[in-house]
Amino acid sequence: MTFYIPKGMDERVAKPTDREIAKYGRREFLYALGALGASAVAAGCGGGDGNGNGCYTPTCPTQTYTVAGSIRGTYDNKMVAPVTVRFGDKSQDSNSGNYSLIVNGGVYNPTVNGGVVQRVRNNVNIEGNTRLDLDALDKGVNVNHYREIGMGIGSPGALMNQNGRSYRLPDGVQPRVIVVRDAGVNADRYAAIDQARSVFGEITNGILNSVNIEYVDSATSNLPDGAIVVDFRSGTIFLAAPTKRNGFYLVNSIVHASDSNSLDFNVYRNTMKHEFCHAIGFDHATNDQSIMNSGTVLANNRMPSQDDIDAGVLKYKRLGGHELDETQDKD
Ligand SMILES: [Zn+2]
Repeated sequence: MTFYIPKGMDERVAKPTDREIAKYGRREFLYALGALGASAVAAGCGGGDGNGNGCYTPTCPTQTYTVAGSIRGTYDNKMVAPVTVRFGDKSQDSNSGNYSLIVNGGVYNPTVNGGVVQRVRNNVNIEGNTRLDLDALDKGVNVNHYREIGMGIGSPGALMNQNGRSYRLPDGVQPRVIVVRDAGVNADRYAAIDQARSVFGEITNGILNSVNIEYVDSATSNLPDGAIVVDFRSGTIFLAAPTKRNGFYLVNSIVHASDSNSLDFNVYRNTMKHEFCHAIGFDHATNDQSIMNSGTVLANNRMPSQDDIDAGVLKYKRLGGHELDETQDKD
C-alpha cells in the first residue's frame, strides 16, 4: 500500500502535479513558471532582458508578479462571489469570483473571505506570474480538523488520502455491516454494534446510511462493495483496517471487535462508532472533543462533534473537489 508522501521543503516551489496539469493545461503552468519566454515574464529585474542578462539573485531589487485565478465552490466548482482575496498587504474585492493581484515575489498565506465562505492556503511561493485557483469552504468548517481526520494530514495516524484525495467509500455505495457471529459473545454486544451503525449517518449528516445489519456464521470471501465485516477477537482490543482499495476508494474493510462481555455497554458502542469511522476513511484527531480522538471517545455519548460532522460532510460531499488544496498547504 502506498501513502501520499508530502513533498519535501526543497520542492516548495509551486511545481504542478500531474493532476494540476490535467486540470489547468501544461501551457498555463509553463506560463506560470516563466518558461514561455520574456513576454510571459513580469517586467522588471527578475525577467531579465530576454537575452539571459537578467538579475536572478536574492540581492535583486524586489520583483513583482501577477497572481490571478478564480474562487470556486468546493462542491460544485462554480464561481463564488463576492469575495475578498488577500495576499499579504495586497487584497482585492471581487464581484465576479475572478481575481488578479500584483504582488512582490515571496511566500504567502493567501486568504479568501466571503459572507459564508473561507479559504486559507499556506506557503504559496510566488516567484513568477502565477495562476492560482482556490476553492471556497463553508465558513464554519474547521479546516485543520478536516485535514486531520478527513485526510490524515498532521494527524497521529497514517495519511488517509491517495494522491491528495481523501479515502472514502465508492460514490453512491453505502456501508454494509456484516457481523460474524461468535457463540461466546452476549446479545448486548450485538446490540451495541447495531446501535453504533448510527454513526455513518451522524458524521456525514445523512449522506451515508446503514439500513440493515447482516449476520453470518463465518467470514465470506466474496464481499459486496461497502462491506464492513465485524468479527470478534479476544481481549479488549478494537481495530479497523481496509481489506480492499481501489485508488482512493475503500471498497471493503474489517473491524475487529472485542469479545469482552464485561466492557461497559456505552464504551463498547462508542468504540465501535470510532472503528466504523475508520472503516469509512477517517483518521485520528488531536482534538479531544472528536470521535476520532482515540483517548477520549469512550465515555462521550455526544460524539461525533460538530467539527467531525463538518469534516464528514466535506469528505463525502466533496467528490471530485479540490482536495489538493489541503495537501498543498503542507508542502
Ligand atoms: Zn482509532
